[in-house]
Amino acid sequence: MTEELVAKECVFCAIVAGHAEASMVFEDETVAVWMDLNPVTHGHLLVAPRRHAVGLEDLDGVTSAHVWSVGHDMATAKPPSRRSSISTCT
Ligand SMILES: [Zn+2]
Repeated sequence: MTEELVAKECVFCAIVAGHAEASMVFEDETVAVWMDLNPVTHGHLLVAPRRHAVGLEDLDGVTSAHVWSVGHDMATAKPPSRRSSISTCT
């Protein structure tokens, strides 16, 4: 599947590629983090790898660890009363 086709069929890849709108809060070369459109808690964030993956098993260990590390950083960057729910998008 081409990168363009993946971006059209996967909403997470579309957001990461900039083809779909999202309230981005953090980006680096490996992951992107944005506000969930249907939050289950105040400050609910989605952490997605830049490379398309269906499940964690599709990611290499370094990328998987980075996704979790960024999610942890996002969760601990907020005051305790506003600690967010973090979801990984894989
Ligand atoms: Zn994707």
